Amino acid sequence: MDDRAVPAPAAAEPPRASGLERDYTSAWQERDESGDARLWDRVVGDGDAGQLPVRFPPETSQLPAHPVRMTTYTPLPIPEAALKELRDADDSGRAMEPYAAGSASDRIGSVGSPLRCCLRAVEEGERVALVSYAPLRRWAEERRARPGAYDECGPVFVHAGECGGPDGSRTGYPFARPGALRTLRRYDAEGRIVGGRLFEIPEDADAGFDAALAEAFSEPSVALVHVRALEYGCFHFEVRRP
Ligand SMILES: [Zn+2]
Repeated sequence: MDDRAVPAPAAAEPPRASGLERDYTSAWQERDESGDARLWDRVVGDGDAGQLPVRFPPETSQLPAHPVRMTTYTPLPIPEAALKELRDADDSGRAMEPYAAGSASDRIGSVGSPLRCCLRAVEEGERVALVSYAPLRRWAEERRARPGAYDECGPVFVHAGECGGPDGSRTGYPFARPGALRTLRRYDAEGRIVGGRLFEIPEDADAGFDAALAEAFSEPSVALVHVRALEYGCFHFEVRRP
C-alpha cells in the first residue's frame, strides 16, 4: 500500500473572529436639553458573548476557580476617596445626578456602559451617574507633580452610592472585548504626556494588554498609563509602573 495515497486528515479550521467584535465599543454624541454636546462611551454587556468564537474547550470549567494566569499589570479603578469627592461634586464642579440604569430617567441607556469604580459594566436597575473625572489630578497631587495643562476632565460612569469597588475575585483586564480599539496614553513622573499607542484588543486580551503595557513601560520615562476608548477618548482605567 502506498502511504502517499492516504489522504491527510483535514486540519480543523480554527474559529475565526467575525466583525461582531468590532461593534463592542460604540460611542455616540447627543445633545442634552440645554443644547450642550455631551459624549458618552458605551460597552455592550455580555449578552452577545455567546456569539463569539469559543477558544477553550468546555473541560476548562473543571479547573479551580482561582485565576489560571494573573495579569502582569494591575488595572486600577477610581479610588474610593476620589469617588467620595465625585459624589459630592465632580471634577468640573457639578453636583451628581443619580438615576437607576434602564429606568425611564435613564436618558442615555446606561446599561452595559463601563463603571470606572467597579471595572465592570452597568447592570439594569443600579443607581449610577455620569460624572466628570480628572484621572491625572489626584495622582499628581500625591506626588507633587505638576501636570499643568495635561490635567484634563472627561465623562465616566460610577455607582451613585458607596459600592466597595471591583469584585475581589475578578481577574484580567476590564472592558477587554477582542476587537475593541483603545489608546494607551503614557505619562511621565510630572504628569506630562510622553507618547501613546493605538491598541486593538486581540483574542487573548490579557496577553495583548500585558504586551502593550510592557512596551509602554519599557520607556524609562513612563510612570503611568491611561487606557482610553479610542473613538471618544473616554478614560477607562489607569496602570502605574509596577
Ligand atoms: Zn462601583
